Amino acid sequence: MRLSTEVLVLGGGPAGLSAGIALRGRGLEVTVVDALAPAIDKACGEGLMPGALAALERLGVRMTAADGMPFYGIRFVDEQRQAEARFLGAHGLGVRRLRLHERLRERAEACGVTLLWNTRCQPMGPGRAMVDGEELHYRWLVGADGQSSTVRAWAGMGACRMEKLRYGMRRHYRMAPWSELVEVHWAERGQAYVTPVAEDCVCVAFVGRAAHREAEEWLEDFPAIAERVEGVPLASAQRGAVSATRVLREVERGGVALVGDASGSVDAVTGEGMASCFLQAEVLADAMAEGHLEAYAKAHQRIGRLPHRMSLLLLLMDRFPGLEQRALEVFAERPEYFRELLAVHVGARGLEEFLARRGLGFCMGLLRAGG
Ligand SMILES: Cc1cc2nc3c(=O)[nH]c(=O)nc-3n(C[C@H](O)[C@H](O)[C@H](O)COP(=O)(O)OP(=O)(O)OC[C@H]3O[C@@H](n4cnc5c(N)ncnc54)[C@H](O)[C@@H]3O)c2cc1C
Repeated sequence: MRLSTEVLVLGGGPAGLSAGIALRGRGLEVTVVDALAPAIDKACGEGLMPGALAALERLGVRMTAADGMPFYGIRFVDEQRQAEARFLGAHGLGVRRLRLHERLRERAEACGVTLLWNTRCQPMGPGRAMVDGEELHYRWLVGADGQSSTVRAWAGMGACRMEKLRYGMRRHYRMAPWSELVEVHWAERGQAYVTPVAEDCVCVAFVGRAAHREAEEWLEDFPAIAERVEGVPLASAQRGAVSATRVLREVERGGVALVGDASGSVDAVTGEGMASCFLQAEVLADAMAEGHLEAYAKAHQRIGRLPHRMSLLLLLMDRFPGLEQRALEVFAERPEYFRELLAVHVGARGLEEFLARRGLGFCMGLLRAGG
């Protein structure tokens, strides 16, 4: 019997499952294949920003407080100072990756997506792939197989306009969260992101330029976190991570499309990786339903523009600690600047509007700070 599917999605992480759900929603027949078994874990800061929650809701995945811990804004912390800003009339949700995967899988199943777990898959030629040793025919192929995408390499779409790698790890501590904000702690060699994910669990992800650092080395850079977590038991196995800023030259070619981290990514510091996955899934499904993948490439570029701009700004603060310290000083003195910039970050306000209203004052503040 000839095995076939209209759309073959390789990778069943957040991008692959959300693509499957969106494609089924447009009436396409979809098979999602993943080498691992659910629920699939991954090193992540585990913060779903307001835009990610809204996109999930459009996909029919309604995350509630029972799935994690709501958070209401962002706090920047360094050794000398801290500054915080709240979202305008919105909230995010800290959610364990395992829980998010479960919710996406349930929705995909309910929509009628065929899910093949623990399954090896290798594209073979136009319209053909080997799935656990059997040939499967497809019309469209979607590469949702993460940072080191096999599909991207196979389809010859690996060329980048920009690539920058940072390294890190994630830990969960079995303790009550100490804040209803996500904290970003800044140090010379990187950041620590602290996200409340359950009433008795806090996720801490460390990311920096140096590879292979031990957790204890990381904690030395963040004494305020080290003090809080001293003696607190870990609630999960520690996991390593690569955080890539990657812009590809193309994300579709000849009936093959890339989505999620396979299609390029923003640095973890933005907290926008998963929102991008969900937004891309929606526009990919529209483009496939119309039969025109070129529209996907354009929409993909549009979705990435703001996160990449914000990522550049934040990575400048990572590269130049003096700039980070001055920025935090300005944010602490003028909280409205931070609040408005956070509104830009989550897409509630335009960057141009912020620059026109606040750009000069913000730059003057940076020049004056540190005195
Ligand atoms: C340290 C860190 C912190 C982060 N924090 C946040 C955050 O707080 N908020 C946020 O929104 N984003 C965050 N991100 C980004 C987010 O984790 C990613 O954007 C997201 O995981 C991308 O999902 P994906 O489905 O594209 O890839 P993945 O989650 O990597 O999934 C890819 C899937 O493909 C499968 N696969 C790979 N190869 C094959 C193969 N050959 N055959 C079959 N299956 C295959 C894998 O098993 C996996 O399940 C963070 C990233 C890092 C590194």
